[in-house]
Amino acid sequence: MMDKKPKEEQFRKIITFTPPLYKQRYEFIKDLVGKYKPKKVADLGCADCTLLWMLKFCSCIEVLTGLDICASVMKENMHRLYPLAGDYLQPAERSLTITLHQGSVAHKDPCMLGFDLVTCIELIEHLEESELKEFPEVVFGFMAPSIVVISTPNSEFNPLLPGVMLFRHPDHKFEWNREQFQSWALETARHYDYSVEFTGVGHPPTGMENLGFCTQIGVFVRKYPQTSESAQSENTTGTVYKTVFKAVYPSLKDEKYLQIAVVNEVIFTAETMKQSLLGQLMSEHEEYNDDPIERKSKFQPSVNFFSEDIGKLVVEKSMEPFVNGNLVYIPLKRIFSFPRVNQLCGTFDRLCKLIAGKVTLSSDGSAVVFSTEHENEEN
Ligand code: SAM
Repeated sequence: MMDKKPKEEQFRKIITFTPPLYKQRYEFIKDLVGKYKPKKVADLGCADCTLLWMLKFCSCIEVLTGLDICASVMKENMHRLYPLAGDYLQPAERSLTITLHQGSVAHKDPCMLGFDLVTCIELIEHLEESELKEFPEVVFGFMAPSIVVISTPNSEFNPLLPGVMLFRHPDHKFEWNREQFQSWALETARHYDYSVEFTGVGHPPTGMENLGFCTQIGVFVRKYPQTSESAQSENTTGTVYKTVFKAVYPSLKDEKYLQIAVVNEVIFTAETMKQSLLGQLMSEHEEYNDDPIERKSKFQPSVNFFSEDIGKLVVEKSMEPFVNGNLVYIPLKRIFSFPRVNQLCGTFDRLCKLIAGKVTLSSDGSAVVFSTEHENEEN
């Protein structure tokens, strides 16, 4: 039998989104970050910081800032934005600072200047009329990031959603259809020299494509680069936001963490080479049945050559680890040739400076020195 209910009625009970709609919105932003690689990102109306938390894993981002008028909603889950133990054990190459401010998108604050990407996900429909009026000037005129993303419900989709009578959320001040959103967005873009493209997430069911996406999205791209003069002239505004959270992540760009990483890497590399050298000595000892320490001369480089022909050989030999008495010497030049050490320090001089006073070196500073005493005891 034919179902006589109108099509919208049929969908009202069954429509679900996979993944859920909010995740689709966040994924949309993550994809955009992957495409444009912004360094500084601000999320306006960040609520419980879920999007910020997702974005902290995007390695291009160095500054992540959230703004919401409601401090308590941000505080609920902001602990997720702190660095974890792993961030300290293995500091990242990039620097990352996450900050949360309490304040309104209707007010200008200099801490919101200099962003590459600004996201406003399901925010504008929560603004009072007076706030919505100020919003374009604050975001596009004052902050003037390279990219702004605005998402808002598409009211044309509402008849398909179960339980939605007027608005999808009791705090919504309005819900726009596509024509209303697009004419506001086009006018804003025209006024502030941005281009805008429209898309969305939450596909309509087959046969209802004419309704458009459940969430409509405008992606605004600034047409001209911001001049340093225009950026400076805006910086005269006073502070109005209150900072409620700040976390500076450990980073190899910070000398303190770089030094720890380099010292650890040098000790690990030198220790591995020491073990390999002593293992070699032991196996030769077993083969020849003599005293491994007596055979140490085999592993000492001959550094007294001065012939030009054999110069290269001298250099190479001077990079070999060797045993002298109870001490094992691992030349720093050799340690520097390891990719990870090389990558961390960049130059040999920098390696020497970073480990000075932190690692036991030979008297001329050319090699890491270990005692073999404990190895002998174990053997
Ligand atoms: N963007 C988040 C998301 O997509 O999950 C949450 C959006 S939530 C529906 C709207 C948020 O906007 C709320 O957390 C609310 O406190 C915030 N908000 C409302 N008016 C605001 C204003 N004038 N300035 C800044 N945030 C505001």
